[in-house]
Order: sequence, then C-alpha cells, then structure tokens
Amino acid sequence: MTQATQATTPTQSAATFTGLKCKECGADYEAKALHVCEFCFGPLEVAYDYSALSRTVTRETIQAGPNSIWRYRPFLPVQTNNPIDVGTGMTPLVQTNRLARRLGLKRLYIKNDAVNMPTLSFKDRVVSVALTRARELGFSTVSCASTGNLANSTAAIAAHAGLECCVFIPADLEAGKILGTLIYGPTVMAVQGNYDQVNRLCSEVANTHGWGFVNINLRPYYSEGSKTLGYEVAEQLGWQLPDHIVAPLASGSLFSKIHKGFQEFIKVGLVEDKTVRFSGAQAEGCSPIAQAFREGRDFITPVKPNTIAKSIAIGNPADGIYAVDIARKTNGNIESVTDAEIIEGMKLLAETEGIFTETAGGTTIAVLKKLVEAGKIDPEETTVAYITGNGLKTQEAVQGYIGEPLTIEPKLDSFERALERAQTLDRLEWQQVLV
Ligand SMILES: *Cc1c(COP(=O)(O)O)cnc(C)c1O
Repeated sequence: MTQATQATTPTQSAATFTGLKCKECGADYEAKALHVCEFCFGPLEVAYDYSALSRTVTRETIQAGPNSIWRYRPFLPVQTNNPIDVGTGMTPLVQTNRLARRLGLKRLYIKNDAVNMPTLSFKDRVVSVALTRARELGFSTVSCASTGNLANSTAAIAAHAGLECCVFIPADLEAGKILGTLIYGPTVMAVQGNYDQVNRLCSEVANTHGWGFVNINLRPYYSEGSKTLGYEVAEQLGWQLPDHIVAPLASGSLFSKIHKGFQEFIKVGLVEDKTVRFSGAQAEGCSPIAQAFREGRDFITPVKPNTIAKSIAIGNPADGIYAVDIARKTNGNIESVTDAEIIEGMKLLAETEGIFTETAGGTTIAVLKKLVEAGKIDPEETTVAYITGNGLKTQEAVQGYIGEPLTIEPKLDSFERALERAQTLDRLEWQQVLV
C-alpha cells in the first residue's frame, strides 16, 4: 500500500542519480561534464540509488508519465522535471508476420526507431538526454562528433532548445544527412577525414572551447539515453524481457546500454530476472568488434572504415570491448555482413514489413538472417531486432538496386502495355524462385 501512496505523490525535481563512477576502477566523481577517469583512464558511467528507485518507481508511475522517453525520467541522469521533450521515444514495437515467416522465426519483433522524433533515428534519444543535462550544467553551446544521425539530432534539438550548435562530420557523408543537419541552422564543420579523425579533433576542441560535446565530455549522460531502447521493449512486451536481441554496433554504446536498461528493470523489480541473449551487427568494411569477438580477444584492434554503412563506421569503438563481453556472457554473437548483404537486408525489411531503414538497419537485418541460417537464433526465441535509422537519409546506398518506375504516356493503351511488361517480368521472377 505504501507503494500506491508513493506512486500518486508528485515526483520532486530531485536527482535519482548519485554521481559518476569509473567503469574500470570504480572511482567516484561528481556529476559534472567529465568522461574519463583521472586514475585509470576508464570511461565514467552514471550511478543511481537503486534502492530509492525500487521504492518509488512502479509500472503504474511509468505508465502515468508522458508518451516519450521521459516516462523513464527517474532512470535518466537529469534533475529537472521539465526536460527537453520533443516526443522522442515510444516508437512502435512491431510484431512481424511476413519477415518472421521468411526467416523461419516464430516471434520476431522490430523496434522501429526509423520513425523516432524529431530526426528519424535512435540518436534522438541520447541527444534529448544530453542536451537536457547540458542545459542543467550551464552550457550555451553544444556540439558533437558525428557519423551523420547524431549531427541531425543535435542540430534539431539544439534549435528547439535555443542552444548554440556547432557539429563536426566526415566530409563524405550522404547528402541526406548533411542537408538534414544544415536545415536547422547550426555551424557544420565537414572534416576531410574519417569519423575517428573527426572524433580526435573534437576532443581537442572540447578541451579548448568549453562547449558541451554530447558524445565526448557529456558522454556519460548521452549514453544513458540508449537505455530507453531496453525499457520500452520490456514495457511494450507487457513488462517482460525478450529472449534474444539483435542490434547494430558503432561505438558499442547503444548495445551496452540496452543491456544496462534490462539489468536495471530486473534490479528494481519491474520485470522478472532472465538472461537475454545479445547479438551485435557490424558491416564487414568496419567490423573491429566482430573481429575481436570471433578471435576471442579482450582488446579491439582499430580499423580504417570502408563500407556503405557510414552511420556505424567507427574504426576505434570506445565501448567495443564491453559489447564483446556482453555478447559472450549472454551466449550471443557478433557478426558482420558485406555491403551487398546490407542492401539485401534493407530490401528484405522494406518488401516484407513496409519499413524503409537506412544502411545500419540493413546491417541488422542481414546479420539477423545470417544468425538464423547458422542456427544461432532459435525459431522459438522471442527475438527483437533494433532498427535505428531511416532509409530516406541514405538513398545513395540503394540507388541502382531497386529498379526504375515504368514511364508511360498519359494514355490507357500505354498503361496496358506497360502493365503487361511488368507482369511478364514478375512471372519470370516467380519462375526463377520456383525452379
Ligand atoms: C549511432 C548509430 C548506431 C550505434 O551507435 P553506438 O555508437 O554503437 O551507440 C546505430 N545505428 C544508427 C543508425 C546510428 O546512427
């Protein structure tokens, strides 16, 4: 009964997080704009008072919250009751029918962040949290080192919040990602180099300019936003964890934080304890985490990216080793696929479920298929594949692989002739399948 009384008490704007903690040596820090341990150089992570959370958070308090990531505010590293809420999160969890059948799975769900708000990728989650915290810490200029989606998201949400914004991207990004950043009016630095070079430059700028870099000096707060991908799936499955998840890996942060999200829900009693198998997806042209997993290594050997999956092309992934560890201890896998398989993955998801994802999503679907074919996902497992970005942003990737419209004259007979040609082509395709 105390539970119920507390549940109806309005939440105070008190922080539920207690500070930052080094993931390696456990050293404690105040919750400032810090990201590296000064003793062992390990990454810092946000720590919470879980016994307080178990007492105050219930399924009902969450369900009474907004229809966005902020329904999980007590699990996020902000103090305010008035976060930047642009409708981020609570994206559809779609039970697939045709894709599941095609792959031979009984229960396959797609967590569809291709329609996340406001910029159609999972990055809206991490940026909403990072900029809310940036505002609390007094930053007036925010920035990021981006593979594309992060720049879209930082620019859009900074515009909404009235923060100054300067973003850094590799100069060779897809046109849709560049345009989808410029429209919000930030300063955009297109760096002639790959993401890892962009990131190194940004670390230097962060030290000299006092800006809030969402994925550098604000990284501990930023990365917590990805936990909501775990919370939402648990809630949308009726407060249960799935058996197996498949998610893309760039730095490995999203993957590790979905795991942290599930663990926290178990810890505070919102779901029953169970081991969820974690499988990760990379593009062969940038697969340092998959390589370390395959070779049973405890360290990542950086690579130079060369793949169409630019949004996940990080050659020196900061959280790679944590991702390897999670895949191992949950009896999951980390696999990579070729660019051709990525395109096939994008087409497969579009043609079976009507979801147009970008190259990162194509990577996830292609790895999902590969794992099922190798017997590494059981048909009986409730499996969730995380689709993290929208295909309209990476149109170049599929140009030339998806056919052309039939151009006709505005006359009925022109249409009839074209239709007959199309049906003949269709029949040929079917015959090939049947042979
Ligand atoms: C950034 C990104 C990811 C993964 O990022 P992590 O660095 O591993 O957290 C996955 N998919 C898309 C579309 C992205 O933009």
